[in-house]
Amino acid sequence: MLQAVIGLEIHAQLLTVTKAFCSCSAETFGETVNSAVCPVCTGQPGTLPILGNGTVKLSLMAALAFNCRINRRSFFDRKNYFYPDLPKGYQITQYFRPLAEQGFIDVRLGNGQKRRVRINRIHIEEDAGKTIHEGASSIAASRDRGGTLVDLNRCGIPLAEIVTEPDITSPREARLTMETIRDILRYMSVCSGDMEKGDLRCDANISVVDTEDGKSSQRVEVKNINSFRFVEKALEFEFERISEAMRKGHQITKETRTWDFASRTTISMRTKEEESDYRYFPEPDLPPLEVSENLIDKTRREIPEMPDRKTDRFIAEYGLPEHDSTVLSADRELSDFFERAAGLTGKPKETANWMMGELIRILKEQGLTIGQTLLKPEHMADLLDLLDSGKISSNNAKEIFPDVVTTGVMPSEIAEEKGLHQVDDEAEIEVAIREAMSANPKAVDQYRSGKKGVLSYFIGAVMKKTRGRADPSIVNEVARRLLENE
Ligand code: ADP
Ligand code: MG
Ligand code: ZN
Repeated sequence: MLQAVIGLEIHAQLLTVTKAFCSCSAETFGETVNSAVCPVCTGQPGTLPILGNGTVKLSLMAALAFNCRINRRSFFDRKNYFYPDLPKGYQITQYFRPLAEQGFIDVRLGNGQKRRVRINRIHIEEDAGKTIHEGASSIAASRDRGGTLVDLNRCGIPLAEIVTEPDITSPREARLTMETIRDILRYMSVCSGDMEKGDLRCDANISVVDTEDGKSSQRVEVKNINSFRFVEKALEFEFERISEAMRKGHQITKETRTWDFASRTTISMRTKEEESDYRYFPEPDLPPLEVSENLIDKTRREIPEMPDRKTDRFIAEYGLPEHDSTVLSADRELSDFFERAAGLTGKPKETANWMMGELIRILKEQGLTIGQTLLKPEHMADLLDLLDSGKISSNNAKEIFPDVVTTGVMPSEIAEEKGLHQVDDEAEIEVAIREAMSANPKAVDQYRSGKKGVLSYFIGAVMKKTRGRADPSIVNEVARRLLENE
């Protein structure tokens, strides 16, 4: 059998206030080009980098959350290469001795099983800028039109590079691994996890092994993957391409390929450069990075319960199915909300159903997180009460729920306002009938003189008053009683 062997190299943009080695703002998305730059991050001669605390803190959090061993002393190195968006001509990274090594994460596969993916290393490095090929979709085309622009805003933004061991055995597992890593990073606000914006990037390495004779193909690296779905798609494509070559006895070259969105295929970029090409050497301008035991302990205490743990706990504590637990635990706000709501409603499964069905759909439609809406756990408790006591139907509950989310008004109030409550309160109905009787004494006389058909007039009047909410059988009964006995 042919089996995929996959390892990921992931770049996570750290959510620091400033860049890694200067005090320029790191929040440059959507900013004017070249507005968040200074002599340090543009690589002017005579400047010196200074490592910011935020970068150390956030990368340390990531390293601990990924169960890594922390190197109390790590070093920075220069990775040399020429690229127009990297004015220094080298990238500061940690090559010889990274911040952290030998970690792991457990990736849930959705069938009660988990895949343990070992983390080889996590290190700190700086990002490069961006080139913009003006008025052209390719470098070749821009050559004729004469325009490639450089935006250095992203230069020096801190990244954590997370390198997994090749423990992943299918394209789907690779996507799940990426999603798990995103969830963990987002839980701690270490990274926004947004692949579409490039805040989280992934290079996927794949080789194919024949499990019968143990023979293995060369390894191919796919770059430029900008969504979780495409991680899976690109690797599926590569797995098929390599498998096909192996079946035909063709050689696969060790190369770097890029995922081409338009054709949904991968395209060869270059044969893989060797490590020595970068001429790594120790960064002379930065001291060793010393991480004290104290800082490690302090940071460890700040790490919240991680999604995988939480999923296990939701299954045990609330009796939720694995699927529900996984969906709710994937997001910190969502899981916090669930726990508070389930505590109030006392009905975890029903609460989970509402959140996973209606709520997540509404959030997706409106592009909001739960914290950006006015929904409170109390609303869930009120809603489930209305439903369980039969005061509103489940269709009506679904009808008003979007309003609850956007307005923050209690479901019972909205139901009342919209006339969705069934009025089964006799006293209230009686008041309405008496009003109709005194408004039209002639009709009362007609009824009493034997024209029983007039009853429908009174029923109609009550229905109009209650906007159709009154329980018709009660109206009928009360109207007869009042008309006949008084
Ligand atoms: P390089 O620095 O040349 O990219 P590394 O040894 O650092 O190579 O590995 C980079 C990535 O390639 C890691 O994520 C690792 O898991 C993955 N990898 C290593 N060997 C294989 C393999 N045989 N098949 C697939 N992926 C692999
Ligand atoms: Mg690599
Ligand atoms: Zn700067």
